[in-house]
Amino acid sequence: MNRKMRMPVIAGNWKMNNGPAAAEKLVGEIKPFAETTGCEVVLCVPYVSLQAALAAAAGTGIKIGAQNCHWAPSGAFTGEVSAEMLKELGVPYVIVGHSERRQYFGETDGTVHDRTRAALDAGLKVILCVGELKAQRLSGITAEVVRLQTKLALEGVSAEEVEQRVVIAYEPVWAIGTGLTATPEQANEVNALIRALIAELYSAQTAERTVIQYGGSMNDANAGELLAQPDIDGGLIGGASLSAEKFAAIIKAASA
Ligand code: PEP
Repeated sequence: MNRKMRMPVIAGNWKMNNGPAAAEKLVGEIKPFAETTGCEVVLCVPYVSLQAALAAAAGTGIKIGAQNCHWAPSGAFTGEVSAEMLKELGVPYVIVGHSERRQYFGETDGTVHDRTRAALDAGLKVILCVGELKAQRLSGITAEVVRLQTKLALEGVSAEEVEQRVVIAYEPVWAIGTGLTATPEQANEVNALIRALIAELYSAQTAERTVIQYGGSMNDANAGELLAQPDIDGGLIGGASLSAEKFAAIIKAASA
């Protein structure tokens, strides 16, 4: 990662784990390790645990995020939560376009775009997930898939927004929750092509300033190698973020 230009972001995605009591406990366990100026630490928790996590993280450097948001500010969308509601609660971050939303809940590039736009309009920071399926990698179309997903999501997003309030997470779908990690070279190659796309869409300066994470079975054992790559500016971590010890080791690797 290029520390001169970009502060790495280490974000935990707790997925559908940890209700309010467990959230309070885990945030408390992570707190001592998050007192670092070497990276930004974000914990993306279930909606029902947001308030508990916010309270537990108050006064620390830990930022709390949600795992999704709707594109409308309010309305007849039973079961949904808007970006404005998250903002009102004091939540600074939201994940958009996670592959589990794309795979199980009908998320499309169009809705990912709309949710990204809504989150930015509400003043939130977005962790925008992109990544290819295993079959797409095997067909040699990883670059096309990732470029298209990124381009469609960022349509109408300004250079300033990309630089300051969008974190792009490259997450190869075949590596998420599978224990299969992209090699550091494979991950860096795709992160670099996303950065090249940002340069094409905006400018070289914006590309240099954009934070691009890797996600997919990142853990305490492989984080060091992945984070040492020049275009990997942090990680989006699922399974390993549920253990304070493992997550702390990843924070340490990012702060080294
Ligand atoms: C994720 O949920 O974004 C993720 C990368 O999960 P895992 O680390 O478990 O592969």
